[in-house]
Amino acid sequence: MSSTAIESVLSDRVMSMTESATLQMAGMARKMKEQGIDVITLSLGEPDFDTPQHIKDAALKAMEAGHTKYTAVAGNLDLREAICAKLKRENGLDFKPSQIVVSNGAKQDIANLCLAMINPGDEVIILSPYWVSYSDIVKMCGGEAVVLSAGVEEDFKVPASRVEAAISDRTKLIMFSSPCNPTGSVFNEDELKAIAEVVARHENLYIMSDEIYEHINFTGKHISIASFPEVKDRTIVVNGFSKAFAMTGWRLGYMAAPQFIADACVKIQGQMTSGANSIAQKAGVAALNSDLRPTQEMTMAFRRRRDLIISLLKEIPGFKCNFPTGAFYIFPDISAYFGKSDGVTTIHNSDDFSLFLLNQAHVATVGGSAFGDDHCFRISYAASEDQIREAVRRIKEAVSKLK
Ligand code: PMP
Ligand code: GLU
Repeated sequence: MSSTAIESVLSDRVMSMTESATLQMAGMARKMKEQGIDVITLSLGEPDFDTPQHIKDAALKAMEAGHTKYTAVAGNLDLREAICAKLKRENGLDFKPSQIVVSNGAKQDIANLCLAMINPGDEVIILSPYWVSYSDIVKMCGGEAVVLSAGVEEDFKVPASRVEAAISDRTKLIMFSSPCNPTGSVFNEDELKAIAEVVARHENLYIMSDEIYEHINFTGKHISIASFPEVKDRTIVVNGFSKAFAMTGWRLGYMAAPQFIADACVKIQGQMTSGANSIAQKAGVAALNSDLRPTQEMTMAFRRRRDLIISLLKEIPGFKCNFPTGAFYIFPDISAYFGKSDGVTTIHNSDDFSLFLLNQAHVATVGGSAFGDDHCFRISYAASEDQIREAVRRIKEAVSKLK
């Protein structure tokens, strides 16, 4: 079929969207592996650990007990109660079970939220670098992504003053993640408070606070922006099970939101998916109601890997890194290589750089353009220390050919 014929069949919506760069790169690496090529995959943001056994056991028990039917659209009450207890215990936040919406991953919560809040022409401020899907979900809903950037020299954290300057009478929502994917940066209490104070001054403005990496935080305690009373009623906290409990394939996430927003998201979800998987929901209860030792052990491993990768990357000329204090990503600025060539490939941008590494070093990463910063590329260090050492050795060798 010709591309014009395809365009006449497909919606403008899907034609204006880009494919998720993280999933695309992971797919390319998978194909090369299938051809027998020894690719080290540092592209997908996914813990390399298995789901803890007690969580799997809860799922088996749930199946045997017959929890195999549709659940309430917003999620089973026991799970929503466990989420409320977690939000109180760990974050000091008061939410009622009716304010919780459980979905097929945090990604779906973000999509539900944007579908519920955004009208065509509405603006959404996205603090950049940002997670790939934010801008495309906003676009899918007809919204306009207003991307505010901070580079490596600012630890990739957009200051509140720049947020305030970007607010217009069409701004509905501010979106960000802390700890941040793709930079590993964590907004500190003062930085969060300053953003909260800006939002508090604009009465129709809401915050989507993506806290999915809250436990993978090497700075100590996680702070939710919803803990500032001035914005508690205007913050939608998004979280999930994928990262903290190594449950990416279970597809389970949640939001805690002002009541009318939660109700609107339930309405949307009821027409789209009917809710999250019943067995995964029972596993989610076990995850939240047990101690966090497996999560803490994973976090300690990620911290050792962070230290390792930082020390190794320091030896590569032209790599400018921040010091990530959370998540499991590092986002080096490699713009020093732009314009350089190995005699065959010239590097013009971050995607060229990432593809060059895939083809020449057999290391899969993701170009920074999809995260809003074309000077950088993302390495997910959710891999063994041996894989990290070998990947950086290969990267160093490949870039040494760029002159
Ligand atoms: N937010 C961020 C910042 C992420 O990195 C991801 C990727 N897992 C998600 C949301 C979505 O997570 P999931 O849908 O697996 O719960
Ligand atoms: N969040 C992960 C990442 O950033 C998983 C892939 C995705 O859902 O985009 O790589």
